[in-house]
Amino acid sequence: MSVPAVSLVIPVYNEQANLTELVERCVRVCEGLKQTYEIILVDDGSSDGSRSLLRSLSQQYQGKVLAVLLNRNYGQHPAVFAGLAHARGEVVVTLDADLQNPPEEIPKLVEKIDEGYDVVGSVRIKRKDSFFRRLPSRIINAVVRKTTGVMMNDYGCMLRAYRRNVVDAVLQCTERSTFIPILANSFASKTTEVMVEHAERSGDDSKYNVWKLINLQFDLLTSMTSFPLRLLSLLGGVLAICGFAAGVLLLVMRLVYGASWAANGVLTVFAGLFVFTGVQLFGLGLVGEYLSRVYNDVRDRPRYFVSEILGGATAPEIDVKSASD
Ligand code: UDP
Ligand code: MG
Repeated sequence: MSVPAVSLVIPVYNEQANLTELVERCVRVCEGLKQTYEIILVDDGSSDGSRSLLRSLSQQYQGKVLAVLLNRNYGQHPAVFAGLAHARGEVVVTLDADLQNPPEEIPKLVEKIDEGYDVVGSVRIKRKDSFFRRLPSRIINAVVRKTTGVMMNDYGCMLRAYRRNVVDAVLQCTERSTFIPILANSFASKTTEVMVEHAERSGDDSKYNVWKLINLQFDLLTSMTSFPLRLLSLLGGVLAICGFAAGVLLLVMRLVYGASWAANGVLTVFAGLFVFTGVQLFGLGLVGEYLSRVYNDVRDRPRYFVSEILGGATAPEIDVKSASD
């Protein structure tokens, strides 16, 4: 089979109610693209009928639908990762299986990639999720914008398109805890966003419970910054300085006003306590600094990617055979 131009990557976890409609709509949209395509559905260890449904769908749409079945439930992002590893398209579009991201929006994203963007995100025009599902997303979006400086309004929306070079870069990252949209953005040079519709969740509830959500937010935070660790040192430093200043103040006041003013030493104990707690926190933060460096090394992310080498004898040889094909 020739290499398709566009790959769709869709993680599936207990989505039997949506699968048939999802694939039908995706195929219809992709046919309209006038480009070759493949649809990769990654089953993340579903326990309902999704697996057998995927088996029959991959036969029904032979050569167009590829089903990758994972042996157990690993989570949404590992599942997308598995899909990316199997995608061969020049453009890779990820979306959710629950039909909250309408496949009809895909051409918009592909068009933007064709305009020269590396990553195209999407903003949900009217997000149809409960308040408790939206709140953590809103907080995290704000934090991400602050810490990464990349202006993306909606990191949570998985309807996204990536160019091949970004996908290859993401695939070279070996860390276990990942949040793909942020990882991809760290390798992209030109990003943009488009507005998309967001549908009510068909079928049952979100597959994320509170703990899974908390875990996801921590993955997200720790994958992009070690700032929380540094915060410890900062807090410790400030506390120690405050304690020390209070101690000096107490000493002076004690000398001026006598022992009764200082509550017979009780306040001095507090000052000492502050200093020691501060020093401890500072020490903890310092250990954290080492830890974050070890963490970075363990993740073993590629340091950079060369996009092109121009001129000189060191230019990589082009595979003439495949280039002339
Ligand atoms: N999903 C998955 N593994 C999981 C949880 C979810 O592959 O452990 C898939 C799910 O099938 C869906 C997507 O990830 O395609 C997003 O899940 P969901 O719609 O439940 O999340 P939300 O809309 O609340 O962000
Ligand atoms: Mg959803």
